Amino acid sequence: YESKKIKNSAHIFASEMQEGFLKNITIEQELRKAISNHELFMVYQPQITAEGFYYGAEALIRWNSPLLGNVPPDHFIPLAEASGLMLKIGRLIVEMVCNDVNELHQKLQHPFHVSINISVRQFMDPHFLEHMLHVFKKTQTQYLNITLEVTENLFIEDLHYILPLLHQIRDMGIEISMDDFGTGYSSLSMLRQLPINELKIDKSFVDTIAHDVASAKMIQNIITIGKNLNMHLLAEGVETKEQKDILTTFGCDRFQGYYFSKPLPKEELFHFFSKHPFTCKE
Ligand code: C2E
Ligand code: MG
Ligand code: MG
Ligand code: MG
Repeated sequence: YESKKIKNSAHIFASEMQEGFLKNITIEQELRKAISNHELFMVYQPQITAEGFYYGAEALIRWNSPLLGNVPPDHFIPLAEASGLMLKIGRLIVEMVCNDVNELHQKLQHPFHVSINISVRQFMDPHFLEHMLHVFKKTQTQYLNITLEVTENLFIEDLHYILPLLHQIRDMGIEISMDDFGTGYSSLSMLRQLPINELKIDKSFVDTIAHDVASAKMIQNIITIGKNLNMHLLAEGVETKEQKDILTTFGCDRFQGYYFSKPLPKEELFHFFSKHPFTCKE
């Protein structure tokens, strides 16, 4: 019995080394199918102003796989980026968001902002803007209500390509937000040159704000710098009133997090927006 157990555990050890790899291969194969089988959909997390009015939502992708269950985007988006599937998924995201938003605009009888996460690969696709504009046109989506969320990692890529494209996008009335600010590659001197409308303060900073003086000071400084650059400051992952109050004192003007609402399926977003104080334009 013992030797059998040892043999088994050796086998388990060997297979564990491959397990992560195989799991990722399986996920990639399933993801390929998920695109055509309509297993991917969007949920929307409400966003609120410091004055207490909701004005929009962040679109977040969900995957409900019959084989794997709910796979979190933190897990499959990096795989999609690495495997080349991200372009297809990115295009699908823009289409799904436009369709959902138009449906909700009609039901609500008023527009609202929507933020779409754009991955580095997706942004660097030479046809990115062309495709997005095509979808906006096809679905008659208003540019003025759209924000694109990019991460600091985008700015490692060729700035000679990125900056003019960002300016072009912004000149059309689409807003740009810097997601997860403070977690990646960033320089404050570069921030000044970027055509950015909003900084999203990462949840990891928000988490510590009520208990760690050094971290609170740092966020206060980030907010001050952002304000001086005429940017909106949005705190993400706000879970308590205390966090919200501190951030408000520092001058943060937009919030998002479980304290206000979890991400909601579009039907629930409709009810949420109908029930709560809402502002059409900031
Ligand atoms: P992110 O863009 O920074 O999105 C915020 C994440 O924090 C979301 O996780 C959201 O559900 C979660 N969150 C919001 N408020 C709270 C809170 O109060 N407490 C806690 N614990 N979590 C909160 P999610 O939806 O799992 O997405 C994770 C990441 O996956 C996103 O981070 C984004 O980087 C990526 N992602 C999600 N959807 C998309 C998409 O449509 N396109 C792209 N390119 N990436 C996406
Ligand atoms: Mg985001
Ligand atoms: Mg974020
Ligand atoms: Mg984050």
